[in-house]
Amino acid sequence: MSNEIIAKADSVITATYKRPPVVIAKGKGCTLWDTEGRAYTDFVAGIAVCNLGHAHPRVSKALSDQAETLFHVSNLYYTIPQTELASWLAENSFADRVFFCNSGAEANEAAIKIARKYFRDKGEEDRYKIITMEKSFHGRTMATLSATGQDKIRKGFDPVLQGFDFVPFNDIDALSEKIKSSACCAVLLEPIQGEGGVRCPDPEYLKKVRQICDETGTLLIFDEIQTGIGRTGTLFAYEHFGIEPDIMTLAKALANGLPIGAMLTKERIAEAFGPGAHASTFGGTPVVTAASLETLKTLSEENITDHCRDMGAYFKDRLLWLKDRHDIIEDVRGIGLLLGMKLKIKGGRFVTTCMEKGFLINCIQENILRFIPPLIIEKEEIDSLVACLDEVLGDE
Ligand SMILES: *Cc1c(COP(=O)(O)O)cnc(C)c1O
Repeated sequence: MSNEIIAKADSVITATYKRPPVVIAKGKGCTLWDTEGRAYTDFVAGIAVCNLGHAHPRVSKALSDQAETLFHVSNLYYTIPQTELASWLAENSFADRVFFCNSGAEANEAAIKIARKYFRDKGEEDRYKIITMEKSFHGRTMATLSATGQDKIRKGFDPVLQGFDFVPFNDIDALSEKIKSSACCAVLLEPIQGEGGVRCPDPEYLKKVRQICDETGTLLIFDEIQTGIGRTGTLFAYEHFGIEPDIMTLAKALANGLPIGAMLTKERIAEAFGPGAHASTFGGTPVVTAASLETLKTLSEENITDHCRDMGAYFKDRLLWLKDRHDIIEDVRGIGLLLGMKLKIKGGRFVTTCMEKGFLINCIQENILRFIPPLIIEKEEIDSLVACLDEVLGDE
């Protein structure tokens, strides 16, 4: 069965994804099953998406109830789920207003557009540049790949969009100089770089970024597409750093697996998005927003972020234990359940061997193993993966 599906997929789907030869058929909690009935403990969670685990009963029920009531009407009309989700987000974040779309890249597009429009509306025509970070990741659309500080993402798509300048992440002097020498409208960054290698900033870095933005009237945009929705042990990662952004983008885990994106901002900036300034046919559609609201309520009512913090600390400790035992481990990093283990050699083969032993993990930047399980992961599951890693790393 799986061989047939794989052959068929490889003949009709663009070859944009290089995948192992398994077909995933079912999921529950932190476990996935393939079409051959093999089980895998999932330390990828659909790339930090299924934070409550697979087929969560509360989310599934909210989704099917809404599907029986109303699927879609477009943004020509008001709906209850969209309104309720926006109020939940406004009540639980720094933001006053929300624009809904369908993916992370679209959320960043909205952030880029509103930042430029904000200064246009003030008559500051020349303030359109956005400073972003080297090794960042902001998406695959033309604007967001232009904002992404990785050549491999931009390669082959020249000319990329103008208006983006790059500085090294975690280098406050470089940012300060760049802001002073260019008329920029915003700084766009991930509080913790995800795809770039699970790179955390120095404790004071983001505070200083906030300060420079305040001094120069520059907008601060946080891309929390990967770090948001409890992933780091707080609802949003900015909460760790004692500051707030002016604009924040969300997607990935926001509806636990349904496609959604959101751009959140303060009232004074939201004014730049008046009628007709931006739009999305599907953005904030009832089925998806109903599932999203239930995801967020579950996350907060069941104290999932506390669990994430505890499991994250435990997991990191176990990874440090591995580092003591295996010379090929260079570094262990991350917070909450956004964890990375940098190797001195390429990591792809360990993804394969772990999968053969029933664990899904992921490798980024060639040599960093990334662990982003559902936030409901338990100690026993972490222990099993650590034992597996101890074994496969020991083979080297
Ligand atoms: C995944 C990701 C994106 C892109 O999201 P898509 O939904 O794939 O468009 C943007 N920024 C960050 C930080 C991400 O992790």
